[in-house]
Amino acid sequence: MYFDTSPKTKRTDLFGREFLLDSLVSYTRDVSVRMIVLKGLRRTGKTSLLNVALNEAKVMSLKIDVREAPYYDRKEFMAYLVEKIKDKIGESLFQKILKYFSKVEVSYQDISTTFFLNIEQKFSTFFEKLNEELQKKDEILVLAFDEVQLLTKIKFEYNLAAVYDNYKHIKLILTGSEMGLLDQFLGKKDAESPLYGRALMELDVPKFNEQETRTFLLKGFEQIKKTISLEEIKEVIANFNGIIGWATQYGWFRSQGKSHAQAVSAVVEEGVKLTQKELDTFLSHRNKSRYLKLLRWIAKGYNQWGILKNQFVNEKVKVSDRQLNLYLTELQDYGFVVKRDENYFVTDPLLLRNIT
Ligand code: ADP
Ligand code: MG
Repeated sequence: MYFDTSPKTKRTDLFGREFLLDSLVSYTRDVSVRMIVLKGLRRTGKTSLLNVALNEAKVMSLKIDVREAPYYDRKEFMAYLVEKIKDKIGESLFQKILKYFSKVEVSYQDISTTFFLNIEQKFSTFFEKLNEELQKKDEILVLAFDEVQLLTKIKFEYNLAAVYDNYKHIKLILTGSEMGLLDQFLGKKDAESPLYGRALMELDVPKFNEQETRTFLLKGFEQIKKTISLEEIKEVIANFNGIIGWATQYGWFRSQGKSHAQAVSAVVEEGVKLTQKELDTFLSHRNKSRYLKLLRWIAKGYNQWGILKNQFVNEKVKVSDRQLNLYLTELQDYGFVVKRDENYFVTDPLLLRNIT
């Protein structure tokens, strides 16, 4: 059902995206592809695509939802990852890998996975041995990190670069909503960065256009055996602007018997809260008033560099060109703003409601 609000796991529940899904599945199966990157704004359907592709590719795979993991602490994260890998590859293979360690320190009974992680070295040995065992079995393990940019904090890109370079039986899929951060994580523009220059297949997950959103709603309503009027469709498009996450929630509320107006306001209410939280997190260690001014101006249509600069001048707030560039870059990096041609836009209509 299209209007189920959890990330999708089956192709039949996924609207559209055939080409992206087929590409993702084929890259996932292709042994010559070592790293795949899935990029898109929040709530455009990256996790759904990833889930469905991993199910369809029929390869051994493990998805780490980084937001659910202890991404703020390097050792804890490594322990978490090893534990997850253990669950995936099974006890017997895991024990084989442990044998390499058992001589060194403790007996198997004593091992909690944290044992490995006292020393960084052991973590890489773990991957080395895992790779060897996979090689013996002629298997590939696909490790998918959903919202991987969060791992910048613990410098996990170094570990992923090591996996990429050395362990051919482990393949990486990375997704990210905060696209500028994802690029930084991948070291796109920075030759000093560990993942710099590594070949990867990149897939962009765009917003849906009006036609697609209309079809999504019509088919979704068919599935729930209800009808939606053209006027209602128009309003959904106007309110949620191609972000399928919001349209899905709207459909779900309708399926639960809410009226059109109730469903719209319920999505708005929840979405405004959620986007506010996301913005607050971003602003918590930044110059809040300047960023908010910028967002408000952009929302009002004062959305070109020169105009924004002038606005600051008019308000007698001293902002250098460099600072303004930094603010705008950050807003884009974190997915709050996009730049099209020379114009900036706020990406999410529900975020707009917070700032206007
Ligand atoms: P992201 O990972 O990009 O934030 P999700 O995969 O979590 O996005 O999707 C956000 C919401 O939209 C979820 O409720 C999901 O079920 C729904 N959704 C996303 N893409 C589709 C799609 N192609 N068809 C139907 N529902 C979708
Ligand atoms: Mg997601």
